Amino acid sequence: MKLYKTEALVLRARDCGGGDKLLILYSREFGKIKVMAHGVSKPSSRKRGAVQLFTRTNFLIHRGRNLDSVSQCEGVEMFSYLRGDLEKISYASYLFELVDAFTPEGEASEPLFLLLLTTLRLMATEDLELLARAFEIKAAGYSGYNPVLETCANCQGPLAGRLCFSPSLGGSLCGACGSADPEALPCNRGLVENLKVLLRWHPSRLRQLKVDRQTRDQLKKLLHEYLIYHLEQEFKSAAFLNRFRAGSAGSYV
Ligand SMILES: [Zn+2]
Repeated sequence: MKLYKTEALVLRARDCGGGDKLLILYSREFGKIKVMAHGVSKPSSRKRGAVQLFTRTNFLIHRGRNLDSVSQCEGVEMFSYLRGDLEKISYASYLFELVDAFTPEGEASEPLFLLLLTTLRLMATEDLELLARAFEIKAAGYSGYNPVLETCANCQGPLAGRLCFSPSLGGSLCGACGSADPEALPCNRGLVENLKVLLRWHPSRLRQLKVDRQTRDQLKKLLHEYLIYHLEQEFKSAAFLNRFRAGSAGSYV
């Protein structure tokens, strides 16, 4: 089979000169794939719009010996609300960077593809922060890093006493196990309940969740430490989001 079809979101696009672009796609059928799109940067190219970052596109791809290439493509969803909205663009970049970090090439995950698509759609109108938090914990789960939230991640006993959250031990810790991880973060029952909701609820329901500023900051810290531990890297976009927030005092809280 020389040609194959796939529906994909454009995760990354890099100019390669001569009007060509190397695309990293996150596809429903094949997971993350790398393809060359010849001539798409030329002003005359009709494929131009379909290979822009954040676009959902139907591709017909030619299987190459070393690198596959785009034969045909049609953009089907442009997420036009992102245009000119720097905050939303930074959130979308962050989600894409997470997917890029979470997924090895060629490993398909339809749930993760659908989560990314759903979250992008909801970002037009819904709470960006809660969508990002739900995305983080769900994406971690799909990648095999579901945090332990029902019992103590260390002794498997009930969550009693002063709770902690340990990225390295994989979730919440009971009061007796707090010392098992000196790096564990302070936690409480309310935070654990919020984490469960973020993990289980469909993202479209998050508007029902009432979360104050302090809790939002705590959830963000717990989840970022958790992701950073499991992915062993910092996310450029997360750092960007923090800078963005710090530089525009209170605009995005
Ligand atoms: Zn314990």
